[in-house]
Amino acid sequence: MNLSTISAFFELGFIRIIAASAAIMILVPVAFGCNDVDSEEHETVSDKPSYIATIPPLAAILREVAGDRGDVACLLQAGSSPHTYEPTPRDMAVIQDATGVFFVHPVLDGWVVDIAGKKSIEVFSFLPAEMQMEMPEHSHSDPGRHRSEGGTGNTDPHFFTSPRAVKTILAGLAGKLSEFDPAGASVYEANAERFSQELDALDRELAEKLAAYAGEAIVLVHPSFLYFLRDYNLKLVGLIEPAPGKEPSPKFIADLVDIIRKNDVKAIFTEPQLQKSAAQVLSSETGLPVYELDPLGGIQGRIKYSDLIRYNADTLVAAFGG
Ligand SMILES: [Zn+2]
Repeated sequence: MNLSTISAFFELGFIRIIAASAAIMILVPVAFGCNDVDSEEHETVSDKPSYIATIPPLAAILREVAGDRGDVACLLQAGSSPHTYEPTPRDMAVIQDATGVFFVHPVLDGWVVDIAGKKSIEVFSFLPAEMQMEMPEHSHSDPGRHRSEGGTGNTDPHFFTSPRAVKTILAGLAGKLSEFDPAGASVYEANAERFSQELDALDRELAEKLAAYAGEAIVLVHPSFLYFLRDYNLKLVGLIEPAPGKEPSPKFIADLVDIIRKNDVKAIFTEPQLQKSAAQVLSSETGLPVYELDPLGGIQGRIKYSDLIRYNADTLVAAFGG
């Protein structure tokens, strides 16, 4: 723990730390995040490498590659947004015991680097340049909420909504796990290969399911699904949040109503982790139904990566009238 980490730790509030530290001592063996299906495994002390993911979909991807070779836990509980998340003292305790800590990208969950230091691995860096996307204007641009680290530009970090994009990071991920645990290298490689084939099958299934809706225009709360929309020929025409956690003004809503009418939008999509009130206003102004897409999952039925992506594809099909 370096000095700046320690001072950040104390800024969190002394009382909260005392209370949370007591809770950590009691709960750490069983209380891993992301509603792990296999949390009972954590009750016994394991000598396996322990990998931490910041968000549930990253934990889901890591679990596929780590398999039985390593324990995977997740920092964010289902229902929280990484954009507005504040790390807790419990997170710090979990991270200190971890072998490696995986996060997506500085603009999404880069706050973990302050705590995890050299243990932290930016998974987005495994994504080939031709796969990477930029975010549309007026999104994720609130400097109060996001660090403007050099070189990140306007990168869209939400690659994990696309099975095709996820496939491209698997070799990098297996390589990193092998660095932490060299004796497991062949296991990580074999797991990555098997998961890669599963993603190919999932991709074909999605392309088939969504083929009839090519060109459909949608409105999201925030730009979480651009990678998915690109791969399956759907089009984002509007965003409800001007910046993460920020409510749109009446003028912003009025402009969106115009865009919705011009583009023959069929539904408005909220997310379980974000505010829904502005979407409801937009729905009553336009008469459009509201559906819920889930970029993060981590709840029953959306823990495994393929189940989460299937849920979203099925929701889109339902919204388009399939
Ligand atoms: Zn986001």
